[in-house]
Order: sequence, then structure tokens, then C-alpha cells
Amino acid sequence: MNELLKKIANQLTQYLQTKMEYRAHRPLSGGDINQVFLLKTTERGRFFVKINKASRLDMFLAEHAALEEIRESNTLQTPEPILAGVVGNHAFLVMEFIDMGAGTPRSEEALGHGLARMHQITKPVGSTAPATFGWYRNNTIGSTRQINQQEQSWGIFWREHRIGPQLRWAAERGASSTLLQKGEQLLTEIEPLLETGSPIPSLLHGDLWSGNWSTAKSGEPVIYDPALYYGDREADLAMTELFGGFSSRFYSAYSEIWLLEDGYNWRKNLYNLYHILNHFNLFGGDYGRQAERIVDTILPGS
Ligand code: ADP
Repeated sequence: MNELLKKIANQLTQYLQTKMEYRAHRPLSGGDINQVFLLKTTERGRFFVKINKASRLDMFLAEHAALEEIRESNTLQTPEPILAGVVGNHAFLVMEFIDMGAGTPRSEEALGHGLARMHQITKPVGSTAPATFGWYRNNTIGSTRQINQQEQSWGIFWREHRIGPQLRWAAERGASSTLLQKGEQLLTEIEPLLETGSPIPSLLHGDLWSGNWSTAKSGEPVIYDPALYYGDREADLAMTELFGGFSSRFYSAYSEIWLLEDGYNWRKNLYNLYHILNHFNLFGGDYGRQAERIVDTILPGS
């Protein structure tokens, strides 16, 4: 790793056109998908570096673009992306290193307020095109491909680019025929089910579980590792509930800026089904049965 981190530091030096040299590095814990490091340099201080195999360069380019888009929204803090590239067999993403501290009630509140403001952004800052669901590029959710083809209809987007592909991949992974049959039936119902709300495109984090935000030493909340696209804000909120870890302070603060709509409490099942199917496709196991139970909740009697 020493040589690799030194080469990354060299590329960074060229990119930043600055006088700086590799000083040291330290592996960090917490990376689910990538190896993550603290890179120390002379003159320019510390950087946060993610490393994966060279074939994952596009994943890092998408993350670079997503971090930039969140920063441009001027709503929540997220690390400044600096450089994505390839060194030998490895792809890397270098970003600003942020010192994290302990979460506080204030930082949870600030996260709720900031997320609601981020959700009020309906298209890239400066864009003159009409707002649409999706994004201009695909990215990944976990390590799975996430298709962001832009659509005018949220129901069509959720059916064609979220639940539909995950069900096809689940079939390839050997999901039970009951899950697949129920899933097929659900696909025909997605549009009317989602029309019960009034979705507009919101700038979403896309993978907002408790492991993807922290509190900086400054006290500000920081979000990272996005699976960004423009979609119904309920999809982000549903995910915060899926694995828990967000307190009532967060939800109250969010509602102070933007109240939730009637029907969220059952629509959230349709949003979280996407992540559970993705977990089945990534990890297998009991997630298949969990997905079936969710479909039963959405379509009782299926
Ligand atoms: P992965 O893409 O492998 O899931 P994450 O983006 O979730 O990696 O980062 C792993 C951990 O590193 C996070 O849980 C967080 O604690 C920490 N982290 C992420 N980004 C930064 C950063 N810019 N500066 C400091 N620590 C960070």
C-alpha cells in the first residue's frame, strides 16, 4: 500500500500543481465497499482516500460528481472531492479529510433541517432544463449498479429503474418463485400506488443510513458516500428508518422545514423494498423473505 499511496500523492501533487510530498498514511475503518485511508502530506496536510480495483473508476467518478453536486446545493456539509483516477490496478478517489467528533442533539437537528433544505433543491444548481426524476449519470448503491435514466413520471422511474432491475437481478440470483411472482404483480401497481403522494424531484442522498453521516469536530453534520439522484424525498426518509439510528429530533427538525405528506407511512415500504432487494442481491440470505414480507404489506392478499 505504501507505494500505491505514494503514487496517488504524486498524481495529487501534479493535479494541484503544488509543492507537496507524501508523508505517511493510515488505514481507516468503516469502509464497506472500499479500502479507506488517511493520507498525510507535507505542505497540504491530510486527505481522505478510497481505493478499489481499477475497474471501479466509474464508481469513483460518480461519487466525485455527487459530492460536488451536494456541495453546490449549499445545504449540508459533505467532503470536497478532489481527484479520481487510476494507478496501476487500482482506482482511487481523494477528498478533503474531515475530523469527525461525537454526535450531539444539535447536530441531529441540523441534519434534519439541512436534509429538508437539500430536498427542496429540484435540479442541479444553474440548470435551465426542467426538473426530472433521475440524474444525468448512473452510479452505484452499495456496489450494485444504480440506473438513473431521467423520467418525467416518478412511478415509471421507480418501476423501470429501481424495483424492476432489482427483481431481474434477484431472479438471476435464485430468488424464490413466490417473491418473483409477487414482485411481478407489484410492478403493475407501482404507478397508481405512488400517485397517492405528490412526488416532485428532490436532490436525494440516496443511501442515507446512519453509517453515512457523522458530526464533524466543528459540530456540523456531514453526509458522505451518496448514491445521488433526484427523486421523491420520501425515499431518503424511508431509508433513515430502515436500519434505524435516527432519533425523533432529526424527524422533528425535518418537519419544521417541510412536513411529511399523508400516506408516507405505507409508501415507505415501497421505497425500502428497493434496498432490501439490493441487500438480497448483494448478500442473499434472509433478505429474500424480508422482501416478500414487504410486498405482502404493500399488496395484502397477493
Ligand atoms: P465506503 O464507500 O467504503 O462505504 P465511506 O464513504 O462510507 O466508505 O467511508 C468510510 C468511513 O470513513 C465513514 O464511515 C466515515 O466514518 C469515514 N469518512 C468518510 N469520508 C470521510 C472524510 N472525508 N473524512 C474523514 N472521514 C471520512
